[in-house]
Amino acid sequence: KLYNQVQDLKGSIRVYCRVRPFLPGQPNRSNSVEHIEEGSISISVPTKYGKEGHRSFNFNKVFGPSATQEEVFADTRPLIRSVLDGFNVCIFAYGQTGSGKTHTMTGPKELTEQSQGVNYRALSDLFLLSEQRKDTFSYDVSVQMIEIYNEQVRDLLVADEIRNSSQNGVNVPDANLVPVSTPSDVLELMTIGHRNRAVGATALNDRSSRSHSCLTVHVQGRDLTSGTSLRGSMHLVDLAGSERVDKSEVTGDRLKEAQHINKSLSALGDVIASLAQKNSHVPYRNSKLTQLLQDSLGGQAKTLMFVHVSPEPDAVGETLSTLKFAERVA
Ligand code: ADP
Ligand code: MG
Repeated sequence: KLYNQVQDLKGSIRVYCRVRPFLPGQPNRSNSVEHIEEGSISISVPTKYGKEGHRSFNFNKVFGPSATQEEVFADTRPLIRSVLDGFNVCIFAYGQTGSGKTHTMTGPKELTEQSQGVNYRALSDLFLLSEQRKDTFSYDVSVQMIEIYNEQVRDLLVADEIRNSSQNGVNVPDANLVPVSTPSDVLELMTIGHRNRAVGATALNDRSSRSHSCLTVHVQGRDLTSGTSLRGSMHLVDLAGSERVDKSEVTGDRLKEAQHINKSLSALGDVIASLAQKNSHVPYRNSKLTQLLQDSLGGQAKTLMFVHVSPEPDAVGETLSTLKFAERVA
């Protein structure tokens, strides 16, 4: 029994790696990802990135380029159930720009039921499970969508289109918290959120890769027989691109953005790594992101990090630093 408890604790931080396929129209050159197994990945590293020619990394799970959205979600599913049991869950997508973070969380631009990402599937599951429990539990579900850009939080659900909005968000006091009761409510809100996110972005200035976006789901449940209540939450975070920029090549706003991203991603890495090591001090205060998520990282909370890598040889430098980041938090 004790063993199970220890396993449960250890299971509170999981790291999954996903390798995206070569994209149509891309020259199918050599592949920097050499070998993928259920829980390990090895890449070939040109000598200029280190002395070894090959490196392997172990994670809770590795999804290869042919893994479907459904397969990826299947291993996320147990977390959704625990939100309804009153746990706080954080799911992050980490990786360089173009590695597939948005694909995993949201899906491709032309969305079909099959290509829907974790966000939609998680919400649909949540409604499905709460429906199954309706004789014993009643649940209220509401969502927030925010963006963190240069350490500033912006509410993405501010349009006039959103009726029923209330001003009592839990972790983001000023962001609208919108009640939802069907998957299509959520789809509608996500469309509004994505549209608001695009405001201010130009073709040359795709802000989405340089800001973190967070869809938060709050669940309040009431046990119909005992009358006791519980709260659970789920944060679904599409992080800013993790690529390092060459400081000699960018200046001004671009440099400032890069520094903010760097700071917040390392703060997130530090928090998760210190939770994984069970350190008594967890440095939540070092970034807006970790401050906002403080109540949902650590303690009884469950964390899942999807780390994304691209197969192109050109990306191998970033792939290596992504896998090292992930190895540290795993
Ligand atoms: P990021 O959000 O990390 O910048 P995207 O999710 O936008 O990256 O992915 C970049 C491109 O690759 C997009 O066109 C996306 O549809 C495609 N893509 C990413 N992952 C996959 C995948 N697993 N299968 C098919 N296409 C993918
Ligand atoms: Mg993206």
